[in-house]
Amino acid sequence: MALTRYAPTPSGFLHAGNIANMERTAEVARKVGATIALRIDDADASRYRREYVDDIFRVLAERGLPWTVGPRDADDFEQHYSQRAKTEYYRAELLASGLAVYACECSRAAQRTAPTGGCQGGCRDAGLAWLPGENALRAIVPLGTTIAIAGHAVALDAEMGDFVLWRRDDLPAYQWVSVVEDRDLGTTHIVRGADLLASSAAQVFLARGLGAINVIDAEYVHHDLVLDDDGRKLSKSTLSSKERS
Ligand SMILES: [Zn+2]
Repeated sequence: MALTRYAPTPSGFLHAGNIANMERTAEVARKVGATIALRIDDADASRYRREYVDDIFRVLAERGLPWTVGPRDADDFEQHYSQRAKTEYYRAELLASGLAVYACECSRAAQRTAPTGGCQGGCRDAGLAWLPGENALRAIVPLGTTIAIAGHAVALDAEMGDFVLWRRDDLPAYQWVSVVEDRDLGTTHIVRGADLLASSAAQVFLARGLGAINVIDAEYVHHDLVLDDDGRKLSKSTLSSKERS
């Protein structure tokens, strides 16, 4: 069965790019006859605000965007679907996966890794114990790791380095949550902005470690971005829908 999803993040009000992505997702679903799920990615609890979830449901209603799987409204979401209540589940899935990981105690500024392998502080070979809440967990992306996706070959080591799977504030990183959720939903079609190609490649890499066959084999559609008047990519806003144009 084909299934795709809207996966908005309630860390700001939706902007035109987010809305265009959901419309494109609905279009792909119509074309291939896929079920549509609504998956609200609120695992990053530090940025969660209820009004951002209300905004998501308002936009879906205004645009007439359909879905049949997932929460029906903001209360249903908070009571039954919030990822903030699933932190221990994501942790258990990570520990049970076959992924090679290491603890990293580098500061946030030093987290961006070089394609030569490992974080800047050399934690990959340091054998540090994972101390949840004090250090982060990174995936080991071996040199030369290339992921074929949507007609592109992404050099994952160069693009993403040893990216973070578990944050030092003891929350799951977005990439990990997304892959686990897509596995559990049975997602077969993933529609994202063209700027997220490397992120999609990272998720395929994780899906291999997790044995999430449907995510590995998913159809990825990367669409053009909606740009602002200055040609810049739109970013999430803390302005309400009344204030946004
Ligand atoms: Zn480090």
